[in-house]
Amino acid sequence: MKIVVLKFGGTSVGSIKRINKVAEIVISYIKKKYKVIVVSSAMSGITNDLIKKSKEISQNFNKEEYDVLVSSGEQMSCSLIAGRLNHLGYNSRSWMGWQIPIITNEVHTSSRIIDIYKSKILNYIKKGGIPVVTGFQGININQRITSLGRGGSDATAIMIAKFFKAKKCVIYTDVDGVYTTDPVIYKKASKIKVISYEEMLEMASLGAKVMQPLSIQDARLNRVNINVKSSFLKKEGTLITKKKNILNNKIIRGISFTKNDAKVTLVGVKDKPGIAASIFKPFHQNLINVDMVVQNISANGKETDLTFTIKLDDLNKTVKLIKRNKSINYRNINVDKNVSKVSIVGVGMVTTPGVTYRMFSALARTNINILVISTSEIKISVLINKKNLKKSITALHKEFKLDK
Ligand code: ASP
Ligand code: MG
Repeated sequence: MKIVVLKFGGTSVGSIKRINKVAEIVISYIKKKYKVIVVSSAMSGITNDLIKKSKEISQNFNKEEYDVLVSSGEQMSCSLIAGRLNHLGYNSRSWMGWQIPIITNEVHTSSRIIDIYKSKILNYIKKGGIPVVTGFQGININQRITSLGRGGSDATAIMIAKFFKAKKCVIYTDVDGVYTTDPVIYKKASKIKVISYEEMLEMASLGAKVMQPLSIQDARLNRVNINVKSSFLKKEGTLITKKKNILNNKIIRGISFTKNDAKVTLVGVKDKPGIAASIFKPFHQNLINVDMVVQNISANGKETDLTFTIKLDDLNKTVKLIKRNKSINYRNINVDKNVSKVSIVGVGMVTTPGVTYRMFSALARTNINILVISTSEIKISVLINKKNLKKSITALHKEFKLDK
């Protein structure tokens, strides 16, 4: 059986007109003799609206009820898609997560899928039916409805592809693939034909919004190939696959960036063992994610400066926590809200010497000051002043020959 999973994101089912288009896409696969399993997200805006309503009821809205509420948008879009397919003479029906069932762990608001029962869906597709499955929702052993976190219908599609051993998993969205960088910021960004899971994971975690990072991790662990495509335009998309399937590995695959970071520096911190741990302990307890960290070597062996970055949203809370922290001494605290993190990502850098140098000198030639640096095996990130964002992307895009 040639099974294909087709997942449609919020904008792809954002209106009745769009849903009619989705039905056409589904039918085009049926005509090519595929057995199609459709997975849909809620119509765009619906989930946001439901979350807003929950907050209006209570700032501490019960988590179990939250999942029932926020996953309800998917019920609506799936029945509309099935209804349209019926209208066009095709045998189709909607399936809620619990009807299949899609079993998740017990965590609420960001559950993970642990099992999918296949028999009902298999029987249905064997008889020629087109199942339309709600993304984003499941059921746990307590028989409560769960949701998979924002953007979680990607995870549903990938796990269905895994359990049903699908030939393909296509993620239909409003962009026609993954780009070397955001084309809105930089016009010469080019579409990436193939990208490895590892690179995609870095790009998504670093700000590329095409897919939910956790879902990419699911795809990587389960070796599910993903095609990212537009449901609006008939164009070749981007294939996300394992490294071995990629022939011409470029040194740098793409450039990602953030616009919502803040930098904090503690000046004149006592240089003694355990000091960094005492500073970061309250952040950890308050779920504040610290990203880049640098500690300067102290000139006199007594005092040092410690700089780190966090999400701009967490800045006020972070400063409060530092001021309240009795176990640390420092002379001054400086904050900078006008920073951006720019990262170059590519598996090719593992085997290519000189990438760091090329990045730094490209920025130097354009007179861009680097504030903080951090690296991983396949990525180098620099923190810069936000006003230099476009300039740095341009310089790096050219340096690594990514222009279209
Ligand atoms: N509808 C959910 C959300 O907006 C799930 C998804 O779109 O993947 O987060
Ligand atoms: Mg989405």
